[in-house]
Amino acid sequence: MNINAKRAVALVTELMGIPGVSRDEKNIIEHLRKLLKQIGVPASAVKVDNVNRKTPGGGNSGNLIVKLSGTIKAPRRLLLAHVDTVPVCLGSKPVRKGKYIISADKNTGLGADDRAGVAVIFTALREIIENRLPHPPLTFLFCVQEEIGMRGVRYMSLSDLGKPAMGFNYDGGHRIVIGATGAYHLDIEIKGIPSHAGAAPQNGASAIVAASVAIAELQRGGWLGAVKKGGKTGTSNIGVIEAGNATNVVCPQATLRAEVRSHDPVFRKKIMAEIEKAFVKAAKVTKNVAGKSCVAKMTRIPEYESFRLPEKTEAVQAAVRAYRALKLKPELEIMNAGLDANWLVELGVPTVTLGNGAGNAHTTLERLDVAEFEICCRAALQIATGI
Ligand SMILES: [Zn+2]
Repeated sequence: MNINAKRAVALVTELMGIPGVSRDEKNIIEHLRKLLKQIGVPASAVKVDNVNRKTPGGGNSGNLIVKLSGTIKAPRRLLLAHVDTVPVCLGSKPVRKGKYIISADKNTGLGADDRAGVAVIFTALREIIENRLPHPPLTFLFCVQEEIGMRGVRYMSLSDLGKPAMGFNYDGGHRIVIGATGAYHLDIEIKGIPSHAGAAPQNGASAIVAASVAIAELQRGGWLGAVKKGGKTGTSNIGVIEAGNATNVVCPQATLRAEVRSHDPVFRKKIMAEIEKAFVKAAKVTKNVAGKSCVAKMTRIPEYESFRLPEKTEAVQAAVRAYRALKLKPELEIMNAGLDANWLVELGVPTVTLGNGAGNAHTTLERLDVAEFEICCRAALQIATGI
């Protein structure tokens, strides 16, 4: 299945240059809406939902949704890509350098994550409309707020998508991602006992000391970083500590933020329980002269649930067929990161995540492999035409 590759590359270059960090997607959404009109998508098929009114912290745009009825009778297929980029991509100046597109400004990322995915699904849509290609009922979702916890998908109404039977998410490498990890945020609060650090340190119990004891204990026990116990694996990280504001006060308060991931929900719980235990215990043994202890409390906030699609799922099989048709090796993968697919699967739409040609996401070294991007566009067209 062929595409106008030159035009696809011009499109991705244009899209990567448009600012649009999470919650500030209005410009890119409006731009895409304009492009949809130009290629002849009827206004009645296009909608921007109000997900930004439901996501915590809001945002200036909802998701852009295009719904086409099919010319062939088959289950509805959903193609999606997120339009928001991470802050390092602000100011991206996409330029071609050999086989790659990079940002001419060395201090910015490119924004191929995920404007390359956006260009991939837009290209499939454009080829279908322009060449009047037969296709099953199709939904294209250009979603917002992926980078801050997949909120554009997490909080959307599934009914807006027209009941797709399967989803294809363009936001990854060249493998077919059929599963992803689940993650939790942890908020840990330690209350210490303040006292003058020079006049009466013995009357205080330091929240910083309690936190340090807990962290040292967890580190020693192998519960931080890559966690491997009894054949089970997961990861954990304490990424933020905020504590104290003066050197002459025994620290009264520490707040820590951490995360835990594992494909195995039971093991994920186990890691969280160990972290909680370490902080509660460390707080208890951190006392003042009167025997009063610090107190620790941990709150678990689910970020997304893990999933794994069986290989026989039609979404997986359709992706495999499309890759084979393009003489690509269909390699299946389980990822250690959260994806929009996690929430779509949760909402009941089996969704695979496929490539967009991008690499080194979220860094100033981000680049787009042009040849690979073109292949991704062809694979997307293959999938969108329902073969
Ligand atoms: Zn992404």
